[in-house]
Amino acid sequence: MIDHRVSLNGLNSFGKIIMTDLENVDFLIIGGGIAGASAGYELSKFGSCIILEKENETGYHTTGRSAAIYTTTYMAGDPVIRSLVLPSGKFLHHPPKGFSDYPLLTPRGMLYLAEKKKTDQLLALYEKLRQSTQDVKILNKDEIKKIIPILSDKYTHKAIFEETVFDMDVHAIHEGFLKGIRQKGGKIITGAGAEKITFKDGFWTVWTAKGSFKSKIIINAAGAWADKVALLAGISPIHIQPCRRTLVLVSPPKDLEINNYPFCYEIDEEFYFKPDAGKILVSPADIAPSEPCDAQPEEIDIAYGAHYLEEATDIKITKIDHSWAGLRNHVKDHYPVAGFAPEASGFFWLAGQDGFGIKTAPALGRITAALVRGKDIPKDIKSHGLTKEMICPKRLK
Ligand SMILES: Cc1cc2nc3c(=O)[nH]c(=O)nc-3n(C[C@H](O)[C@H](O)[C@H](O)COP(=O)(O)OP(=O)(O)OC[C@H]3O[C@@H](n4cnc5c(N)ncnc54)[C@H](O)[C@@H]3O)c2cc1C
Repeated sequence: MIDHRVSLNGLNSFGKIIMTDLENVDFLIIGGGIAGASAGYELSKFGSCIILEKENETGYHTTGRSAAIYTTTYMAGDPVIRSLVLPSGKFLHHPPKGFSDYPLLTPRGMLYLAEKKKTDQLLALYEKLRQSTQDVKILNKDEIKKIIPILSDKYTHKAIFEETVFDMDVHAIHEGFLKGIRQKGGKIITGAGAEKITFKDGFWTVWTAKGSFKSKIIINAAGAWADKVALLAGISPIHIQPCRRTLVLVSPPKDLEINNYPFCYEIDEEFYFKPDAGKILVSPADIAPSEPCDAQPEEIDIAYGAHYLEEATDIKITKIDHSWAGLRNHVKDHYPVAGFAPEASGFFWLAGQDGFGIKTAPALGRITAALVRGKDIPKDIKSHGLTKEMICPKRLK
């Protein structure tokens, strides 16, 4: 283990970076979202760990803006994603003692909606899902109406129901990881954006407004900014593409009991909606390419969200309670990137979690801790068919 000198630098009275002492750690993580937190949680079991977060709070960007759905059949049961969500589910269903005071998952169920003209497509999807799970069934109109009486006739010809789909408590998961890091003596430093990154004699130095930090290993978990952080370090980008997605919150009519409604998902991902703490959360499932930024919802997408909900249900929307947008960040094959940059020593990518970064975080954290230490992917994850090559940055060259 590397020698630790834990004297934290700060800003001088003129707000400039001061560098009176370098803080040395085994693992330096850039980005305090769910990716950085899960990696730090696992890595802090093996050495000292610091997370540097540019915002004044962790989880401000994509992590704090998700729809918070856990399903094992994401992307119609895609095997790579499934090999990450299944072991992550084990963790989320049964987290270590003391991880959180709250359940991380609560049952929600999922209804795949399709108009009558898409019935063949719905049945094909059902066959595809059956290759991954027996927990799907086709429902007829009466069965659909029993589960969600407000659904409009447009979507009640047939639907697929998957029971073992859950709401995630994203805040509790994120906080659980961060707490675990602190318990091992690690630190989460906010307001500490990486501004300059240098490499000398086998060590990376990351310069921030809160001081400079030195490590043999840096983990780039900067979400939408992952390419920008790489460029600071002189590493070639993986061409991460942030895409904005909007969520809209509306109040249901008074006296309508909605809490047991499932997550309703149009099979071409035109829209989705679900209950959320007494309100209805709806997304027009927009995929608008964006620069890395503090994403804000556009009026047109809010309007589409409201329109889809009105079209799919009996609800008439009179007021939007709240709306927000977040960036989902993908690389060209839409699989995550976890592995050392091929051209430099000790620069590890953990990026590209697109729309599945919360439900895969426990597994990706463990994979990161294994690969960073020169080990293979943990056996239980590998047993689902995942290999290093499927997620390595080199595949993107
Ligand atoms: C609308 C929406 C719905 C979603 N729904 C789901 C869902 O139902 N289930 C699911 O599993 N996933 C979902 N996702 C995806 C999931 O939220 C993301 O995959 C995940 O949050 C990505 O986490 P992250 O840590 O990589 O990114 P972020 O949370 O964005 O964290 C990256 C952090 O890096 C910091 N950073 C950037 N540059 C620097 C720098 N130079 N120095 C220091 N720090 C820096 C940023 O400030 C940020 O806090 C959804 C996403 C969106 C937008």
